[in-house]
Amino acid sequence: MKKSPQTQLIHAPRLAPQYIETIQPPLYRASTIIFENTQKLFDRHWSDRYDYSYGTHGTPTTYTLADKIAQLEHGQYCLLAPSGLSAVNLVNSALLKSGDEVWVPDNIYGPSMAHARYLEKNFGVIVRIYNPLDCDSFQPSKQTKLLWLEAAGSVTLEFPDLVNLVKKAKQHQITTVLDNTWGAGLAFNAFDFSDEHLSVDISVHALTKYPSGGGDILMGSVVTQDHTLHLKLLHLHATQGISVSGDDCAQIQRSLAHMQLRYQQQSMTAQTILQWLKQQNKIQQVLHPSDSLSAGHEFWLEVCQDQQSAGLVSVIFQEQYTLEDIRRFCDALQLFKLGFSWGGPVSLVMLYDLKEMRNLEHPHLANGFLVRFCIGLESSEDLITDIKQALQVL
Ligand SMILES: *Cc1c(COP(=O)(O)O)cnc(C)c1O
Repeated sequence: MKKSPQTQLIHAPRLAPQYIETIQPPLYRASTIIFENTQKLFDRHWSDRYDYSYGTHGTPTTYTLADKIAQLEHGQYCLLAPSGLSAVNLVNSALLKSGDEVWVPDNIYGPSMAHARYLEKNFGVIVRIYNPLDCDSFQPSKQTKLLWLEAAGSVTLEFPDLVNLVKKAKQHQITTVLDNTWGAGLAFNAFDFSDEHLSVDISVHALTKYPSGGGDILMGSVVTQDHTLHLKLLHLHATQGISVSGDDCAQIQRSLAHMQLRYQQQSMTAQTILQWLKQQNKIQQVLHPSDSLSAGHEFWLEVCQDQQSAGLVSVIFQEQYTLEDIRRFCDALQLFKLGFSWGGPVSLVMLYDLKEMRNLEHPHLANGFLVRFCIGLESSEDLITDIKQALQVL
């Protein structure tokens, strides 16, 4: 067939795929995926990943990353979502309906709490809040369908009584889902975390944090071990059009190679800074699972047997300091940038007023404004020097 120059530009001959090995896998970008023939078109099935049919369902690029994340977290199946919060939404939307009860820890990631509240207001889901340090505060009923866990919890970093909470949920046949962003598949194995081989059913991970490692990409994942549960999630994933870009997957895939090294480095720097912060008299309380005075420390020791912890450290300032003082402290920091998220190269700081954040009493936390440091890859000496100079403004 003779072709016009315009057509030739589109249908120019391509090199046929042939064996070539590179460090990183090839990148597929696709909305349309071309079927070999009508037989392939008619034979495809939505749940078979190798029946490539359309970009939203996945390409070798998205599946390569999904498989790596499943492996990282010691699970079997993985679905990718455009953000960590979207992964939270995927789980809730697939497993909860009107009249069902979901239990969330009081220190759950703020937007996850907001999502639960949204389901409560608009879809008749019942939201119950428990104290992650006290298994007795989790009181499942016949309506309870889902137990959310977060280890360690957001901002105040209490490590939950994971063993007893999961045991209790299992006794009542309640699906357990862990927000595993902090542990990232490295601090402990969510699918086998105790001597009794306890496992959560689902692990949600904000890949935005450590797997991305750059502070520039948003993505989330949902990892499972049970095929039926995976199919339930996959069905919603497909019907809601939840999909991610091949380019973003390739970037995260690239960063995974050094994720463990970054995680170890950031947690080491965090521990060094923690020791220094403990000696500062303007600071009333430090919050970190490795600190023996922090709530949940014993649960952390029980589950994180290599004593790994992420690069997050929170502090509560002495009560005499006002919001204006703490704002001046944050504004005076130079290396620590004011921003949400973590896991990237740049250290971050965020300030919080606990009074506006918790539903239950929290006697283990001092009164005062809280600042969370998210440790990047700078040297610990430079970061300490920065905090030291900023403390001068108080
Ligand atoms: C950041 C984060 C999320 C949400 O991830 P995004 O990609 O920012 O939506 C969920 N859970 C935890 C614990 C997080 O830190």
